[in-house]
Amino acid sequence: MARLQGKVALITGASGGIGLAISKLFAQEGARVFMTDIDEDALKKAVEAIGPDRSAYAVADVTKAEDNEGSVKACVDAFGGLDIFVANAGIEGAVQPIVSYPMDTFEKVLAVNVKGVWLGLKYAIPAIAQRGGGSIVIISSVAGVIGSPGFSAYVASKHAVIGLMRTAALETADQKIRVNCVNPGPVETRMMRSIETMAAGGDEAASAGVKSQFEQRIPLKRYATPEEVAYLTLFLASDESSYITGQIHLIDGGMRAG
Ligand code: NAP
Repeated sequence: MARLQGKVALITGASGGIGLAISKLFAQEGARVFMTDIDEDALKKAVEAIGPDRSAYAVADVTKAEDNEGSVKACVDAFGGLDIFVANAGIEGAVQPIVSYPMDTFEKVLAVNVKGVWLGLKYAIPAIAQRGGGSIVIISSVAGVIGSPGFSAYVASKHAVIGLMRTAALETADQKIRVNCVNPGPVETRMMRSIETMAAGGDEAASAGVKSQFEQRIPLKRYATPEEVAYLTLFLASDESSYITGQIHLIDGGMRAG
């Protein structure tokens, strides 16, 4: 039997690199997926690719309470309930030391990556409880467990969601809801291309060299694929992980082994 047969999943940032891989894999494993993002064209293409019988979308900005509330309602209206919530939407911000980091960028990163997750939890938890339980996965990062020079806002945000995850896991265990974090190292998506270019001082030609430096710091000597992150998320979303809650799950090519 498919690993998510009969389940309904809501995924934020679903038209981006990791969110789309999760949406496709969940649908392939029998779930009906409700995808939200701010990019409507990309969402439409995703529904076409997955199939309108298995997927639907809403344009929703995770920083807005009404968009989170509306997404959960639209998902329940479309598919009859909610079993799995994946808080995936996130932004990288700038690559600057704290002393020169732009304040508006700091505030935006915290708004999307922390407030966005908190609002998602706020509206998804009651809907999942209504179904008698389920699973929530928050996409944090290896930057949630280590510092990283130049990434103060991103690092702070990815540490913060681990606190949200632990608190939500304790608050919802009685309702049979499990809450976990997936913590990837670098993944082959738009986000890493942006980080490489910023780390190269805006010089796109030099960004390949930055990527190769980043890869040298990873024991497996490469970035993860979005699909590899999706498979870990699938395990945590499925009943196969029924006794796992309140934990971080690194997928980092061995970065944290040393
Ligand atoms: P991505 O390709 O940029 O995808 C992120 C998606 O989130 C995009 O579709 C983006 O839309 C959307 N988004 C941005 N702001 C939003 C908002 N306010 N409301 C709703 N959606 C919004 O990046 P990704 O690599 O797949 O990242 C997904 C998650 O994994 C993020 O939380 C990221 O921090 C985390 N992560 C990524 C890596 C990595 O190396 N790539 C490593 C560790 C953790 P637009 O494209 O239209 O802006």
